Amino acid sequence: MEPLLEGLDPEQRAAVEAPRGPVCVLAGAGTGKTRTITHRIAYLVQRGHVAAGQVLAVTFTARAAGEMRTRLRALGVQGAQARTFHAASLRQLRYFWPRVVGGPQWDLIDRNKLRFVAQAANRAGLSTESDSLRDLAGEIEWSKASLVAPDDYPAAAARTQRDTPAPAEQVVKVYQTYEQLKNEAQLLDFDDLLLHTAAALEEHSEVGEEFRDRYRCFVVDEYQDVTPLQQRVLDAWLGPRDDLTVVGDANQTIYSFAGASPRPLLDFARRFPEAAVVRLERDYRSTPQVVGLANEVIKWARGRPAGSRLKLIGQRPEGPAPRFTEFDDEPAEAAAVAQRVRALLDDGVPASEVAILYRVNAQSEVFEQALAELGIPYQVRGGERFFQRPEVRQAMITLRTAAAQDPPGELPKVVREVLSGVGLTDEPPAGGAAREKWESLLALVELAEELATAVEGADLAKFVTELDVRAEAQHPPTVEGVTLASLHAAKGLEWDAVFLVGLVEGTVPIVHADNDEAAIEEERRLLYVGVTRAREHLWLSWALARAVGGRRYRRRSRFLHGLVPEDHPASRTAAKREPLQRRPKPLCRICGSALTDARSVKLSRCESCPSDLDEELLAKLRAWRAGRAKELKVPAYVVFTDSTLVA
Ligand code: ATP
Ligand code: MG
Repeated sequence: MEPLLEGLDPEQRAAVEAPRGPVCVLAGAGTGKTRTITHRIAYLVQRGHVAAGQVLAVTFTARAAGEMRTRLRALGVQGAQARTFHAASLRQLRYFWPRVVGGPQWDLIDRNKLRFVAQAANRAGLSTESDSLRDLAGEIEWSKASLVAPDDYPAAAARTQRDTPAPAEQVVKVYQTYEQLKNEAQLLDFDDLLLHTAAALEEHSEVGEEFRDRYRCFVVDEYQDVTPLQQRVLDAWLGPRDDLTVVGDANQTIYSFAGASPRPLLDFARRFPEAAVVRLERDYRSTPQVVGLANEVIKWARGRPAGSRLKLIGQRPEGPAPRFTEFDDEPAEAAAVAQRVRALLDDGVPASEVAILYRVNAQSEVFEQALAELGIPYQVRGGERFFQRPEVRQAMITLRTAAAQDPPGELPKVVREVLSGVGLTDEPPAGGAAREKWESLLALVELAEELATAVEGADLAKFVTELDVRAEAQHPPTVEGVTLASLHAAKGLEWDAVFLVGLVEGTVPIVHADNDEAAIEEERRLLYVGVTRAREHLWLSWALARAVGGRRYRRRSRFLHGLVPEDHPASRTAAKREPLQRRPKPLCRICGSALTDARSVKLSRCESCPSDLDEELLAKLRAWRAGRAKELKVPAYVVFTDSTLVA
């Protein structure tokens, strides 16, 4: 078992040993905030100040909650809850439902959400194109997270100078209709889980009392990203008590677009004047080189509130300098990243210690392909919503049916056989969605292997129960492999080697942040979050064109300005070393001329060349063009002029 106090520095120790009551740890990335709160929970439990079952710790992603549970287990704490706000609320709401609502429990809206938004948009006479619907759904989510009721939306949007996706009155109509349709269908969206939980505790005193009798000690990680709705839930949990430990870093606020704010973190000591406030500055995660770059990135942030100017001081031994590399196009960038990953794995770095981080999920595909080409295992996005994936749901139904027939015990083998019926092949598919699905199914087999090792006589029935428990706790299995994740999903996590890719204007910062200083600053913080995920190796890269042969019109991110000076020898040599990644110039497969525009490259032929020429005709054409045939005999329907064929 890990010792509780020995491995802590004096400030961390002060936070761990602070008596029950309000505690605030205000510190930069990698300074041990998450470690401090897990040790604090373990300390309070082991010293008998609180029972493990009375502790409720919340964080923001299922993966981070899973990591916290793992760390707690390693410290010998059994029974403390570590969940996301949503998972914790869902559990409480299910429990209190008969008393506060009654009747059958409502289901989660899940994938149907956009359908309801579409109906509402349609009634309001607005576009139902998917991008518009996503914007409207985002606006409804922002309103609910900000505790803005439909009628108050126009005033709130004006006050916060929001770029509304439609005239405010129409957004109000969509918001109202969406709520009405959803309630008629007896469905709950994610924000409803929190709203109903807060209301249940606020409006039913006996529910509040029962809850506060059960949970007495609250801990919040990543508190800089709390929304007013989450704060309301937290206040409802606390009631008149003040046993609350919060930790956060205002420089890592990356969800203000969704209503989050670092204010409750920065104002914590004002709200609880008797709070123990601890600041940490030593960075235990990253090499001084990575820490230096992180300090540089955040140094230029504008409008930083007091309390967020924390400088990190690296504690680890020296490591390699972060590398900056420019590529001609994305496929070249992806191929080079995959090759470097390969080299790391060959050097003994485990695949699970490598991450490729990007700004938007759509960027993952080209990197997936490049990794798959080199046979490198990977997982997309750290397993969030693992149990909601259709293939996992299907797998669980199939496993449950199989378990009823009580197949003979070798658990992993049985699971593999059963899952082969829902698409688990021996060899992984090449990439994309099929590969992701395959990885999910394989993760289930690996989980079965884990269970078989840990529990003697584990059978399929036990495995299905384990899956149910994990699904309820939203505790996804770890998928071995390189992680591909968005910068948002990477918050709180760390890897030995991190690749920050696609660092071009329009992506980092994202195009719609332009002309909005606050949004640009949030993008800068995102880069800071990305940089501070790396323990040792950090590569930053960008590509001047999207596709092979595409126009090289993209510029590297403004945030790199000053970090990669033009005359920096390392950046020059790094850029020069890359040509080995360059692919041959693409040629038309029919007439052989060089392809210049992206569409032709995708088609592998000139736009004017017909696509349905048969192979024999192509061979004739090539022979003729190469001078190996004197004449070219083609069917009557083919007309050709000069080097261009027209069917
Ligand atoms: P973030 O802001 O990114 O969430 P954090 O402040 O929560 O970072 P942790 O994840 O708790 O940081 O810690 C970063 C790393 O430093 C972890 O690997 C942790 O085990 C290690 N660490 C923290 N404190 C110490 C310490 N006192 N001695 C040695 N290692 C430490
Ligand atoms: Mg943390």
